[in-house]
Amino acid sequence: MPPHNPNYNSVPAFHAKLATSRRILAVCGAGLSASSGLATFRGAGGMWRNYEAMDLATPEAFERDPGLVWLFYAYRRHMALQAKPNAGHYALAELARRNPGFWCLSQNVDNLHVRADHPPSQLKLLHGSLFMLKCASPTCDYQTENYDSPLCPALAPAAVNAPASATEIHPLLDPSNPLPPLDPSTLPHCPRCPPNTSLLRPGVVWFGEPLSDPLLTSIDTWIEQPNTPIDIVLVIGTSGVVWPAAGFAEQARMAGRTREEKEKGIGASVVHVNLEAEEEGNLRRLEEGDFAFAGDAGEVLGRLLEPVLGRWEGGKGGRFVRE
Ligand SMILES: [Zn+2]
Repeated sequence: MPPHNPNYNSVPAFHAKLATSRRILAVCGAGLSASSGLATFRGAGGMWRNYEAMDLATPEAFERDPGLVWLFYAYRRHMALQAKPNAGHYALAELARRNPGFWCLSQNVDNLHVRADHPPSQLKLLHGSLFMLKCASPTCDYQTENYDSPLCPALAPAAVNAPASATEIHPLLDPSNPLPPLDPSTLPHCPRCPPNTSLLRPGVVWFGEPLSDPLLTSIDTWIEQPNTPIDIVLVIGTSGVVWPAAGFAEQARMAGRTREEKEKGIGASVVHVNLEAEEEGNLRRLEEGDFAFAGDAGEVLGRLLEPVLGRWEGGKGGRFVRE
């Protein structure tokens, strides 16, 4: 048990905190998407064919082999289109509608928050979206939204539904199936640049690329509102020790607090929701007033937000019922 938190995993204790809270920040990671069945491509079993995501999600990889990188993203677009938002996405969207003092920052690029009708002004997509395409030329700012799958005929092998049985492997993921040869000329090109000069690329933030400055400024301004501290920080489906989630959570904990509160260490309650949240090493990091709930992010969130939203019924495809 963590030193100062006898109630660290008590749902009623969290509900009591929620009842007196106005400003709430959520930071979401891949675990929330995993609850909708989407692969995270991180950690054990996180390979795509025999590639690590880190070897495909970089500007250098796109420069070297745009066809391979596009197949990886075309596959992820198709899987995201097949997936459905889960109870967690709906809970966060409903909380945003009921509480204008709630903002959600998400590292997920699968569009599931948007499909759960999360109010756009209270949703910040830190890493962009699989469904934005942008010009790969640094001197062109063309971008467009696109939900086609396949995106173009050359990427059709990626637009194959996942096999119904867990023992079958998607043909594109089987390293013994050779990849289709992909000539860059068959990939989508920027319509604003001279013909056949610049490829379009996925509108996501790759490893080694910075987050957008205007986005970071808007988040910083929202967190640092003078004299209006944040009451709860929900860290969902991410370990909370990896940047940027950890950075925002720590900043939000003490933002807007008086000097006296800072000296006494009185800040927001940070609430960790992920599969490993209650492992000993993670519990040791909790501070006074923090919570940790281990489990499927979608299901746990539905339970934590019941007082605001009503009871969640019907599992993953369900809805909130107010008594
Ligand atoms: Zn262009």
